[in-house]
Amino acid sequence: MRPAPTKAIRDLAQGGVARLLGGALLLLMPLVLPATALVGQLDHKLFDLRAESASRRASDRFVFLAIDKESLDHVGTWPWPRSVHAAVVDALVAAGAADIFLDIDFSTPSTPAEDEKLAAALARAGGGVILPVFEQHQNIRGADSVEVTRPIPLLGENAWLAAANVRLDGDGSFRAFDAGLTLDGQLLPSASVLLSGVADPEISELGIDYSIRPETVAAFSVADLLRGEVDADLLAGRSIVVGAYATELKDLFPVPVYGILSGPMLHILAAETLLQNRLPWTIPAWPGGLLIALAFVVGAGALRRWRLAVTIPAILALALAIEGAGYALQKEWSLQLPSATFHLMLMAGFAILLLQKIGFGVWLLEIASAERRNTRRILKRVVNDSADAVIIVSEEGLILDHSRAAARLFGASHELRRGEDFRIAAPAQLAEAFARLHHASAEDGKPLPTVQDEFTISPDGEPLHLEATLTMSRLEDVTAESEFRKFFVACITVRNVTARKTYEAKLRRLSQLDDLTGVLNRREIATRLAQSVREGRTMAVVALDLHRFATVNATFGRGTGDQLLRAVAKRLMAGCRKISIEPAHAFVARLGSDVFCLAVALDPEEGLDGLPVAVLALFEKSLDARGAKIHVDVRMGACLVAGVDPAAAIDGAELALDEAKKIGGSGWSIYEPAAALEQARKMRIEHDMRRALREEQFFLLYQPQVDLETGKLVGAEALIRWRHPEMGLVSPSDFIEVAESNGFICNIGRWVLAEACSAASAWPTELSVAVNVSALQFAKGDLCADVRHALAVSGLDPHRLHVEVTESTFLLDPTRLLAALHDLKSMGVGTALDDFGTGYSSLSYIARFPFDKIKVDQCFVRGIVVRPESQAIVRSVTSLAEGLGMTVVCEGIEEEAEWRMLAEFGCQQGQGYYFGKPQTADELMTLAGQAGSGVRATA
Ligand code: C2E
Ligand code: MG
Ligand code: MG
Repeated sequence: MRPAPTKAIRDLAQGGVARLLGGALLLLMPLVLPATALVGQLDHKLFDLRAESASRRASDRFVFLAIDKESLDHVGTWPWPRSVHAAVVDALVAAGAADIFLDIDFSTPSTPAEDEKLAAALARAGGGVILPVFEQHQNIRGADSVEVTRPIPLLGENAWLAAANVRLDGDGSFRAFDAGLTLDGQLLPSASVLLSGVADPEISELGIDYSIRPETVAAFSVADLLRGEVDADLLAGRSIVVGAYATELKDLFPVPVYGILSGPMLHILAAETLLQNRLPWTIPAWPGGLLIALAFVVGAGALRRWRLAVTIPAILALALAIEGAGYALQKEWSLQLPSATFHLMLMAGFAILLLQKIGFGVWLLEIASAERRNTRRILKRVVNDSADAVIIVSEEGLILDHSRAAARLFGASHELRRGEDFRIAAPAQLAEAFARLHHASAEDGKPLPTVQDEFTISPDGEPLHLEATLTMSRLEDVTAESEFRKFFVACITVRNVTARKTYEAKLRRLSQLDDLTGVLNRREIATRLAQSVREGRTMAVVALDLHRFATVNATFGRGTGDQLLRAVAKRLMAGCRKISIEPAHAFVARLGSDVFCLAVALDPEEGLDGLPVAVLALFEKSLDARGAKIHVDVRMGACLVAGVDPAAAIDGAELALDEAKKIGGSGWSIYEPAAALEQARKMRIEHDMRRALREEQFFLLYQPQVDLETGKLVGAEALIRWRHPEMGLVSPSDFIEVAESNGFICNIGRWVLAEACSAASAWPTELSVAVNVSALQFAKGDLCADVRHALAVSGLDPHRLHVEVTESTFLLDPTRLLAALHDLKSMGVGTALDDFGTGYSSLSYIARFPFDKIKVDQCFVRGIVVRPESQAIVRSVTSLAEGLGMTVVCEGIEEEAEWRMLAEFGCQQGQGYYFGKPQTADELMTLAGQAGSGVRATA
């Protein structure tokens, strides 16, 4: 069991420790205090007061013969001629003085005659005159450079020498003389000792008893003596001290009780002190002090029991008694009682007693409880004034306290009152949160829990968003005597966050909407679309653009333009809910200036069918913008979302919209992922083509051409290939069309001609090379110049080169084609009409254009063996060609049977996989070498 801290405090209250401390303090005081300057000064003050109040008369033994102002005036000069002093001595001797002390500095010689006169007077006095010797500091700085000031030898030899050193006290007052002074190894007694005739070798310091009043010492002016006006009786048998009194002579000393006294008077008072046996002696403070301390410690019990009305007078009486004793001791025996220490001890003792009496611990407790009261008051204030609702609930669920805000917050239905059960009074959500907290805090060994919750209540119909924090605190019951009882209280803080929530919702809405029209923005429609798709709906996106919106802006002004956009948004919003199979999953957004986006849920069976028409129908009626009736045409791109990421679907719809824009007026296009991929691939090809030519990514393969009758190799067709660094091998059917669409085919064609000619120039001379030439090379480029250049550079015989053109070439300027063909012919270059039968060629063309060869397209060759119509076509082409003197070349021969039949029909030449696939020039040459008589066995 732990002892209650209150017990220790109670002990303290009973004063055990305080008494102990107090006793120790009191015992120390008499040992320490007297040594302190302050107490020393207090004691001196008391000594002086006693001396003053117990004053006494001087004896008649001493007479002060003063060199006063009058005396100085009488002689008229200072220092006096030594003869004046001699006269004084003589007069005193004549009057019958007992001792004479000339308290005058004779340390420097005067005129020899004057000195002699005084010396003589001293001698006449019988050598008993006393002259002063004193130690004097040589300069203001040095304490150690002390010089003894003594009468000149002539005078000293005829007199007694006496020490006249004064001692200044710590407080700057003069209180004592040195008892003597060692001079030349001999001890000179103090003047006062000589004058009084009382000597005590034990004493080194002669204190002065200032209770002897200076004014009771007989005093005369030297002037009176010199004028013979002093009655000899007053001097006879007395000790006479002659010395300075006039202020001008500066022989003055600060003293206690009387303020200032002259040096000679001090000597007289010191001598009187000795004579009256009143040498002051200070009693040590500690024995008395210890007595008082002991008395306090021993009598503490009794003292505490006394009432203050008794204790205070008792202590005062004790102080007075001490003071009375001090007075008596000093008056009777000149014993100085250092009572300041005693008085201070009495005061300290009284203070300790007082503390014990009112109880130190009680006092501490009083302070502590005042602090607690204050803290409680502040806490209560803080809780009460808090803007949040604060509720303190006991472990048992009772409301201990709550803030004013708490009483108001939950409205009339949940008014909180102290002492009520919180679980019943509070809103259900909060009561539940409290139950959770209670449950969590019951788990042993775990840190005390905190529960946070957010909920909404509607006390007055209006929803209130509340945020609650519930914390458990462990408290100890300090009022229990034996052991501390631990218990819990819950602090529940509820904050009304309605304003914040509303603001957040507003911000969220603003961040989701398009400023101008109030429909969604791109990010938000993508988010909602994704959500609808996640929930398993088939969604479609339509990107929609207003045709000639710029004209509306220019004609009616921007304001009307904006109004029109708002009207479109409104119509779309109303319309899309009808189009969508679920109105809740129909969204409208604005993507750009006049581009809108719809997202609607569709019947998966129907897909996009009907969607564009339904949207177009929304714009059949004109729109109202600032009073103007405006009819708008829209173009649309639509895209199905299923499986595609929503942002990509919106992009797809926009791509489709781009397609639709190529058509004038209202129209639509549907986004096909494959077509889009193809388009992207084309764009890539177009982009990479130029670099490919520069970096030599193009190369040529050669497909063997044979004589169908003999099967002998007669030449090869050059076919271009592109080795793309990322896409791999790209076929000409993929890039020739693109190159034709942007005109780059002319550059490629030029390179093919040069490359093919250069390769063929290395072949056996009986082999020819056929090069495909695009129609555009005739139209945009200068084909003949390119051919000429290629031949010139390679040195190839023009007869070994054939140029193949397709039927599409006829779509160009036929005159120009004809001229070019003639040019080529005149150069000796052969010409061939490629892919005959697939395009526009009519028989009349063949007759008009001077081709050397007609290449029958592979679609007629394929399956010719079993297709009589193909056989008929090939037969008639062959006979026509024969008539025109042209050679027939058959493409795509893959089977031996095809070859046999074509040879039989009279076709002269052929090419196809049967004879050889497109291959490298080296492979072709190997083939040419191997074949000997033919590429294949002859028919
Ligand atoms: P084309 O001039 O009619 O070339 C013949 C095409 O048929 C070649 O396709 C060739 O590989 C293919 N072929 C040949 N024998 C057979 C066969 O037995 N069976 C099958 N299924 N196909 C066969 P390729 O190389 O893809 O060329 C396609 C077209 O690209 C060419 O048709 C030509 O019009 C064009 N082309 C090729 N190279 C060039 C060129 O350098 N310049 C220009 N302007 N066009 C070229
Ligand atoms: Mg060809
Ligand atoms: Mg062809």
